[in-house]
Amino acid sequence: MEKVCPLCNALQAIVETCPYCGGKMVDGGSISNYLGPYSPYMDKESLPLQSEDYCLHVIYCPVCAYDTRMALALVAI
Ligand SMILES: [Zn+2]
Ligand SMILES: [Zn+2]
Repeated sequence: MEKVCPLCNALQAIVETCPYCGGKMVDGGSISNYLGPYSPYMDKESLPLQSEDYCLHVIYCPVCAYDTRMALALVAI
């Protein structure tokens, strides 16, 4: 049995709505895509990037540009 991220594998869609404008949040991809020397996501309060049980995603609102992070529980396939 293999554990995969449902979002990375298109098994699940984001159902969050933006807390500011009510727009539909969209997946910005796994947070590992965002990490770099100048990344605004490099902060002390980050959740652990590597986890056996979760895949961290950036989700954002295309309407007002609000973004947040979401930990997706991996699912067994
Ligand atoms: Zn993922
Ligand atoms: Zn918004």
